[in-house]
Amino acid sequence: MTPQTILKSQFGYDTFRKGQEDVINAILNHQNVLAIMPTGGGKSLCYQIPALMLTGVTLVVSPLISLMKDQVDALNENGIPATFINSSLDYQAIDQRFQEAASGTVKLLYVSPERLDSGYLNRLAELPIDLVAIDEAHCISQWGHDFRPSYLNLANTIEQLPSQPTIVALTATATPKVARDICDRLRLSKEVKTGFSRPNLAFKIVKHQDNDKFLIEYLRQNAGQSGIVYASTRKEVERLTKLLNRRHIEATMYHGGLSKEERRENQEDFLYDRVPIMVATNAFGMGIDKSNVRFVIHAQVPGSLEAYYQEAGRAGRDGLPSEAILLFRLSDVQIQHFLIDQSDRDEAGKQREYDKLQAMSQYANTQECLQQYILNYFGEDGEKCGRCSNCLDDREKQDITIDAQKVLSCVKRMNERFGKVLVAQVLTGSSVARVKQLRFDELSTYGIMKQESQKSVAELIDFLTASGYLISEGGQYPILRVSDLGVAVLQGKEQVSRKVAVKATHALPEND
Ligand code: ADP
Repeated sequence: MTPQTILKSQFGYDTFRKGQEDVINAILNHQNVLAIMPTGGGKSLCYQIPALMLTGVTLVVSPLISLMKDQVDALNENGIPATFINSSLDYQAIDQRFQEAASGTVKLLYVSPERLDSGYLNRLAELPIDLVAIDEAHCISQWGHDFRPSYLNLANTIEQLPSQPTIVALTATATPKVARDICDRLRLSKEVKTGFSRPNLAFKIVKHQDNDKFLIEYLRQNAGQSGIVYASTRKEVERLTKLLNRRHIEATMYHGGLSKEERRENQEDFLYDRVPIMVATNAFGMGIDKSNVRFVIHAQVPGSLEAYYQEAGRAGRDGLPSEAILLFRLSDVQIQHFLIDQSDRDEAGKQREYDKLQAMSQYANTQECLQQYILNYFGEDGEKCGRCSNCLDDREKQDITIDAQKVLSCVKRMNERFGKVLVAQVLTGSSVARVKQLRFDELSTYGIMKQESQKSVAELIDFLTASGYLISEGGQYPILRVSDLGVAVLQGKEQVSRKVAVKATHALPEND
């Protein structure tokens, strides 16, 4: 049997998707391989097909116990012998499942990373394991957005297996840095990366609007369509769900504070199309394979672009046109800041999270193609998508070189040692004590933008940062400095343009 015949006979598909054959062939040649494919790209088949071709067992390490059963049920329905072991089973059941795996009646054995660490290792060592598949492999990297300590030990555990299995690691989100980290830790020699781009997704950013109002109107306009609304906190999930239900928009919810039973029920209501809208924290969604999700709305900005792309990517798995909308408010960035601050990460870990949050806010402030911005972040090139809210923004571009020069020279004059708020205060001529103490009121750039509000100058700074003229770095209290591109602007070698809403005064006829 070839991979192609199994694809048809067991899964009923005619052709492989991009990357699948490469990963399968690498595994069959005993190469340890990292597969980076977008959500919905078909990662599971990459190890399920080899599992059916290898003589021994394939061990699948998957982080979510709740999903194991679903995955195993789906395989069994396709006539593929698979089972799982986790803490929900009693000793006898576990023993029986190990025996089935040892005798070859089960080809795929799903297990959580925590279980590998604990008492199962001896039993696993007795099995003829040919392949270990590590799902959501970015969890092994501290540079990833969902680091899990239980993943760290995987490489050691696998090394202790006497059958010396081949390893395949799979993820949908890996920056080049995370990919390198995964390969180093698991000693992988090959990487298969298919394009990250999601041609059926239209990315949108909504700013300066009443979010609740936008949400209600959007959901009314898209009534009957299935969609997910993400919020950052349990409290906000509860509030939004109540709000929608009060407005007769059917919605259920999911967050870590609900009982196991409630979570299961609500998840099933959504999965089986009994309720069209799911309002949830990021606890919802990993591994959920619901193909007809037409939109994913982030009512609050998430902590990183990795998380955003993964969550947004749950829209349109069936390939039909779908939307990924981010409702952006500065105060929500502060919530994420707070969450990082309160987390039990060490100082370096927090810095990494602050930097990721910054890339996320820059996404909301760029005027470039949003799909392209995401692809660049993940180290990939791409054409303009033509579908996102920036590509469709038909406002005229205005030359803002002079304003940009004012900001850039102010940052320079403040010795590139301060952040956005203070720079905006100096430019608008604020009389706050700190400006005076630091004697920035004596700078020639003090007050040169005093006709603007501090908020609009701060937004201009965000725009200049998102467009690469300024660099903002330094974790919790980021500091602005001027990039090489920004220096070229100061020297008059580069022009800066920006799409801006035309102000009412500009719109008046000239002789008015
Ligand atoms: P991922 O884990 O990469 O997010 P899945 O493995 O869950 O994606 O696959 C997403 C969907 O695509 C599943 O419904 C799967 O059956 C389907 N699929 C996978 N490979 C193919 C293929 N070659 N042709 C058609 N559909 C496929």
